[in-house]
Amino acid sequence: MSELRKYEINTSQYELYKQMHEKQTLDYVMKKRLQYSKLNNTKMSIKEVLSRMDNFIDPSDPDLDVPNSIHAYQTAERIRKKYPQDKEYQIIGLIHDLGKILFEFGEENWSVVGDTYVAGCEYPKSIVYYDTLKGSPDFDKYTKIGIYEIGCGLDKLNITFGHDEYLFQVLKGNDNHNISQKYLDIIRYHSFYPWHTGGDYYQFMNEKDKTTLKNINEFNSFDLYSKEDPIEITEEVKAYYDKLLDEYFKGDLSW
Ligand code: FE
Ligand code: FE
Repeated sequence: MSELRKYEINTSQYELYKQMHEKQTLDYVMKKRLQYSKLNNTKMSIKEVLSRMDNFIDPSDPDLDVPNSIHAYQTAERIRKKYPQDKEYQIIGLIHDLGKILFEFGEENWSVVGDTYVAGCEYPKSIVYYDTLKGSPDFDKYTKIGIYEIGCGLDKLNITFGHDEYLFQVLKGNDNHNISQKYLDIIRYHSFYPWHTGGDYYQFMNEKDKTTLKNINEFNSFDLYSKEDPIEITEEVKAYYDKLLDEYFKGDLSW
């Protein structure tokens, strides 16, 4: 476990975070949210998007060197092992990273992947590669509360834009699926490490967020360790999820 999530300087991860930290200002985050909430990029089924993850390896994750579709099935399979009856939870394992389709819309990696944090308030030290935040025009601009209010709830925060927020917007904005709010929140905040693992931003939490925190901490135990736990993805496994996706999604979604 201690081998995982080790970040060093002068690696591709470092470069990604340096760019993210300099460019994901409050202004940028608000613009990207508005742009993508329109869902006017394309219409695709959830299966089509999943299959497009075959050729994509996450550049931000130091622990992952398999295509994202394999990561999707492996995460789902770990959930199925523990919760064989909970189909919705399994589906979330499968789809949680599909927001990475943002790459196909021309977004750069610092706007798609990596740990997220809040724009519009002070940056806590728990943010990975904290020092590169000093290159942001927003550095030292805000207090610990910033433009927000104590207890306002995470949903009110402008969290850096990426695959979490994007897939949340897609699922929120399409009604031809039956994924419930609990799972939408897991998707939305799963990369929010300074909060769910770093213990920061608690000043903004409301009652709902306490439940989300518990849910995400459990979800993350299924999400991370693909290299160490090589689950085989057979045709039977793929067929199982194919059927499951048919139960939860109907037709194309607007992306
Ligand atoms: Fe992710
Ligand atoms: Fe993941």
